[in-house]
Amino acid sequence: MTKQPEEIALLAESGRLLASVFGYLDRLGLLGMSTLQVNDLVDNFIVQQLEARPASKGQYGYAYALNASRNEVVCHGVPSASEILQSGDLVNFDITLEKNGYIADSSKTYLIGDVSPQARQLATITYEAMWKGIQAVRPGGRLGDIGHAIERHARAHGYSVVREYCGHGIGREMHEPPEVLHWGKPKTGLTLREGMVFTIEPMLNQGQAGVRTLRDGWTVVTRDGRLSAQSEHTVAVTADGVRVLTLRPEERQRVSDAVQE
Ligand code: MN
Repeated sequence: MTKQPEEIALLAESGRLLASVFGYLDRLGLLGMSTLQVNDLVDNFIVQQLEARPASKGQYGYAYALNASRNEVVCHGVPSASEILQSGDLVNFDITLEKNGYIADSSKTYLIGDVSPQARQLATITYEAMWKGIQAVRPGGRLGDIGHAIERHARAHGYSVVREYCGHGIGREMHEPPEVLHWGKPKTGLTLREGMVFTIEPMLNQGQAGVRTLRDGWTVVTRDGRLSAQSEHTVAVTADGVRVLTLRPEERQRVSDAVQE
C-alpha cells in the first residue's frame, strides 16, 4: 500500500495539473452554463492544454470527464445539457486526471450567484471538515483518526456525514486500497505509513445522512431532498506528516497555518 518517491513525484505532477483545472474552473463564470458545457470545456482543457487524460472517461462505462453534483445530489451527478447552473445553486465538480500513468482525484464545491447563508455554511464546513481529516494524517496515525476528525467537525455544526462513499487509495488505478471512511473512532483502523497515497473526500448533508441512487444508475441524492456538499484532495503520508498532492495555489497558506498549529 506504500509508494516509492519516484511514484509520488509522478502523482504530485498529476495533482499539480489537476489543481490547475480548478483554477480554470474558477475563471470560467459558471452561472448560466449547462453542466455538460462545463464538462466539455474541462475535457478539452485537460487534453489540449495539459496533454493529460480525464481518468473517469471510460472507467466503469462512464462517458464524462467529471461528475457534476448539484444541490441535493450527493455525488456521481452526470453532466447534462438541460441542467443549467442557476443563482443559488451549490455544485460540486469531481475530476480525475491521469498523466504518465498516474491518477490524481480532487473535487470542489462552487457557489453559483447569490447562495443562501445556509448553503454557503454547508459548503464551508464541508471544506473545513476535509482539512480536519487532512491534518490528522501522519505516519503512525490511524485511519480512524481521519474519520473521527471529519465527523466531529460535521456534527459540531449540525450536519451528517454520508456513509455509503469513502476516500480510497490511488495511484496507477483510480481506486486502490485502503478505504478511507469519513467517520470513525480515534486510534482505530489501519496504521498510516510513509508513502501511502489516498483521497479524503467527505460528503456532508444538511439533513439526514441517508442517500439513494436514481434510475440512471449514477446520480446519488439525499433521501430527504436537502442539500449536500463535498470536498476532496489526494494526499500522501510523508516522513513527518502529510503532503496534499492536489493543493491549489490559494491553499498554500492553509497548509503553513496547519503546520504551525
Ligand atoms: Mn475520489
